[in-house]
Amino acid sequence: MQGIALKGKTALITGSTSGIGLGIAQSLAAQGANIVLNGFGDAKEIALLQNAIANDYGVAVLYHAADMSKPAEIEAMIRASAEKFGGIDVLVNNAGIQHVANIEDFPVEKWDAIIAINLSSAFHTVRLALPYMKSKNWGRIINIASAHGLVASAQKSAYVAAKHGLVGLTKTIALETAQSGVTCNAICPGWVLTPLVQKQVDARAEREGISNEAAKKGLLAEKQPSGEFVTPEELGALAVFMCSDAANQVRGVAWNMDGGWVAQ
Ligand code: NAD
Repeated sequence: MQGIALKGKTALITGSTSGIGLGIAQSLAAQGANIVLNGFGDAKEIALLQNAIANDYGVAVLYHAADMSKPAEIEAMIRASAEKFGGIDVLVNNAGIQHVANIEDFPVEKWDAIIAINLSSAFHTVRLALPYMKSKNWGRIINIASAHGLVASAQKSAYVAAKHGLVGLTKTIALETAQSGVTCNAICPGWVLTPLVQKQVDARAEREGISNEAAKKGLLAEKQPSGEFVTPEELGALAVFMCSDAANQVRGVAWNMDGGWVAQ
């Protein structure tokens, strides 16, 4: 989908050097938005990504390496974005990590990191970016939660708690901005084949002594009735819809795109 719906606007997508965040960044750039990329990775590869998005879509692309577990770095990223682009119009809170273990074995530092990156970072980006949106009476805040923001799975205590928290935060922000041109919504993906999920596929293949393909099928069969992965492009298209005028009154939803996961 290519268009000019977001021409002249600026979209900051946290955790956009990979996976879903990168897919959403490309979809928003395809609508003409200038992009702030964020996330970890090899500096050369990130520079290539930055150039590719700028060239493919004719937009300006800033990269900021803020660690989303560190409020001071988040502040520096928002400041740098505002200095370059005069504000932030679309904020996608996407950075996230996973750790899988029973609660009594769950490493305390993993709990703290997941809550900081998957939940608290959105509190910080929103509190800092919202004044820019309010000053223009237009903005879109999209929180990438998960099917695990709506239902639980065993061994994912921190992730499920953070994602349910993110859905709650989404609703509160939607209420506080309800009488303005700023909307806040969550997207709740099911399984998407990104590096975050590939790790879980690898762990399953090893545990069960099966092939990568069989492990993927097993993972999907357990939770996702469609038997198909959701793609970053599909999630990007939903984000573009949430940025459109047609979505002016879509406020505070937690929209699952999950191959039927939470319909069960
Ligand atoms: P991914 O591992 O491919 O990408 C995660 C991104 O976050 C990367 O760019 C990484 O560098 C960045 N990141 C990680 N820690 C960071 C930190 N401290 N500071 C800044 N950036 C950091 O994962 P993904 O699957 O694309 O996940 C993206 C989001 O989607 C996450 O919030 C995840 O919970 C959510 N999600 C994923 C799936 C799935 O099946 N893949 C399903 C539902 C929700």
